Amino acid sequence: MTTISIAVQKSGRLSEKSLDLIRSCGIDFNADSRVLKAVATGFPLEFLFVRDDDIPQYVADGVADIGIVGRNEYDETGLELEVVRDLKFASCRLSIAVPHGFDYKGLESLEGKRIATSYPRILSRILKENGVNAEPVVVSGSVEITVEVGIAEAIADLVSTGTTLKMNGLEEAECIYRSSAIMIARPDMQEEKKVLLNRLLERIDAVMLARHQKYILFNLPEEKLDQAAAVIGGMKSPTVTPLMDKGWVSVQSAVDEGRFWAVFEELRRLGAEGILVMNIEKMTE
Ligand code: ATP
Ligand code: ZN
Repeated sequence: MTTISIAVQKSGRLSEKSLDLIRSCGIDFNADSRVLKAVATGFPLEFLFVRDDDIPQYVADGVADIGIVGRNEYDETGLELEVVRDLKFASCRLSIAVPHGFDYKGLESLEGKRIATSYPRILSRILKENGVNAEPVVVSGSVEITVEVGIAEAIADLVSTGTTLKMNGLEEAECIYRSSAIMIARPDMQEEKKVLLNRLLERIDAVMLARHQKYILFNLPEEKLDQAAAVIGGMKSPTVTPLMDKGWVSVQSAVDEGRFWAVFEELRRLGAEGILVMNIEKMTE
């Protein structure tokens, strides 16, 4: 039987969320994550637990068919694989940070400077695009201490909140690149494996779509129905059921999470009662 293999980060910022996503697709594995390989239950899939830096190369070499990795790591390798999904988790930005007192006015302020980074390829590309000549200083970790120790005048590092920078006396000056976890795939996969990948992607899409939606159920005076439907918007017209109370209906619909509170308040204003909100587990368009 054909199986596909997926490389996921063994332990780090991507690990839990990668496995959560796959588990939400009804796929699990019976092994502790210290082993290198594990066979999935519920889907013909094999897991490979490795360092995130190695994932793009493993996929390129066919050691794994697909992988979940930060877009930053993938772009930094310069390999050309297929990016099949942006998974939207582990978001972070690559930012220029400078010490207090550095008069940063834009990338041109970096002309002739040394910039410490773990992402020289991405940094060089951006500097080049902006016509700036600066010297990337490649360090593999603790980028934030390089200014203090005198090997660089500025840094380009991954940031998600900015607290690490502040602790090291640096200020985030400019975001130059954004990343989140992506799924990559070998471009030359066999047909049977492509079929499996598409089945997996269909499940992932259903989970991702559901994650951004809430299901709401509420009672409403019937005369407000058109206004409520306009407020809810969404993919499909809401389901409406008459109530025993004359002039009242029960309404059900999916609502985009980002708009949820605005919709909620608007529905209250229209006289909605007994609003019930539920998480959606899976969903299709
Ligand atoms: P490994 O031991 O597997 O090499 P690592 O230390 O290189 O792990 P992590 O720190 O776990 O990697 O980060 C993995 C990915 O998480 C990064 O490549 C990036 O895409 C993403 N990420 C999200 N937020 C941040 C952040 N604040 N700093 C660094 N990476 C982040
Ligand atoms: Zn790494």
